[in-house]
Amino acid sequence: MAGEPQADCLFCKIVDGKIPATIVRESETTVAFRDINPQAPTHVLVIPKAHYPDAASLAAAEPAIAADVLREAGQIAADEGIADHGYRIVFNTGAGAGQTVWHAHAHVLGGRGLQWPPG
Ligand code: 5GP
Ligand code: ZN
Repeated sequence: MAGEPQADCLFCKIVDGKIPATIVRESETTVAFRDINPQAPTHVLVIPKAHYPDAASLAAAEPAIAADVLREAGQIAADEGIADHGYRIVFNTGAGAGQTVWHAHAHVLGGRGLQWPPG
């Protein structure tokens, strides 16, 4: 069923506590943890606890949870002190755009200069 945990999904395992992660925030519907391979001084992933393969499918099925992900991302930026300088919320969607984990996640990146376009 849509949204159900997937046994072979890395991020579902982090939600379940089966794989450790450095958790920075948790809400009823989301978990946020530090990326294992940070691309900026602040690099946090915000995920829905429910399993959807990407952000668009999450938003189509559960728009309130998609909004929760965005709200949490903004709160993390404020808490990490990166909001004033500018930060980026990224949803890589599809292998051609660099998506490697098929559980929706927002990257929250900041604490250094960020180029646009990102390449
Ligand atoms: P994507 O490439 O799908 O947009 O982002 C997946 C992210 O998950 C990558 O930035 C990668 O470094 C991160 N990642 C992969 N495996 C783990 C893990 O086991 N723990 C944590 N904290 N991050 C992970
Ligand atoms: Zn999952």
